[in-house]
Amino acid sequence: MYKDLREEITALTLASDTPAIAIDGLSADEPEAAFPVRLAFTASPLPTKKPRSVMDIDALEYIRVAIANGIDMFDRVLPTSAGRDRPVFTYKGAYSLKKLDNTFDQNPIAAVHTHTVCRTYSRVYMRRLCKTREILCSMSARYHNRHGLRNGVKTARAAVEESGFSVCKADFLREYTADTV
Ligand SMILES: [Zn+2]
Repeated sequence: MYKDLREEITALTLASDTPAIAIDGLSADEPEAAFPVRLAFTASPLPTKKPRSVMDIDALEYIRVAIANGIDMFDRVLPTSAGRDRPVFTYKGAYSLKKLDNTFDQNPIAAVHTHTVCRTYSRVYMRRLCKTREILCSMSARYHNRHGLRNGVKTARAAVEESGFSVCKADFLREYTADTV
């Protein structure tokens, strides 16, 4: 990261007094550990009274990192880019439907979800849809991912309002990285 360039563009942005501020260029195939450092450096001088957004969030766990840095909005095609070879997200981690090992798994993509896809389709059915390149695989995976992201952000928002976000973030990261899908 070129700190001097980030500082320069931040100064220019603040001087132009825009109604909101968007941060971009953080998710460019950087090592995972770099995102929190770069975001904290970029977000810390921004005024808390203006809505702040991060563009191109590239991983589910980055949303919690962004919220911890005072970010209000996120932008990414992450949930809708899921499909045959891209992961579906659950609270216990992400996995590829196509690469599921257990071909008899009758569980839904995520057991805690209450939406139509997770109430209707099993993992083995979804795996078959993906293997046979049915469009319903991508559609269902996207529906599931959007539902999970929306609920995850709602949970985070409630935790912020109750001043319990640090615990919420730690709980999420512990579950998400435990690899117990
Ligand atoms: Zn689901």
